[in-house]
Amino acid sequence: MEPRRKYWTQASAWATTVGKAQYARGMLKAAEAFKEDTGREDRLAEVMCAACWYFRVNGQVAGAAMTSYSCALCGEERHWGSTNTPVICSGCATAHALCVQCGGDIHLNAARTDWPVPRVHQASQVHQG
Ligand SMILES: [Zn+2]
Ligand SMILES: [Zn+2]
Repeated sequence: MEPRRKYWTQASAWATTVGKAQYARGMLKAAEAFKEDTGREDRLAEVMCAACWYFRVNGQVAGAAMTSYSCALCGEERHWGSTNTPVICSGCATAHALCVQCGGDIHLNAARTDWPVPRVHQASQVHQG
């Protein structure tokens, strides 16, 4: 069997270098913003946890199409401005201190015990993201 050889040219190496450096700088910037919680007010206004808020741009390319979704807690149908739909509607998220985007605790508090009980039947596990 032939050993595997990956594609590499001088041009691809340059493009990869630019992309990797940009990616790493972006991650570092996001991590710094996360640490300082620089957008706290905007973040809480949109009911999102710091992990989703600061790292959402990386690796998530969402379509800009209006998409309908059903809240995993109350089951109400709502509309969202992109295909990266929330897990939980902002009403439920606010009421239970959850993140709309991932459904986790908005303060990233894994130690909490007062998780709300969904009022709707949970569909079989769908892989997120
Ligand atoms: Zn809801
Ligand atoms: Zn989140």
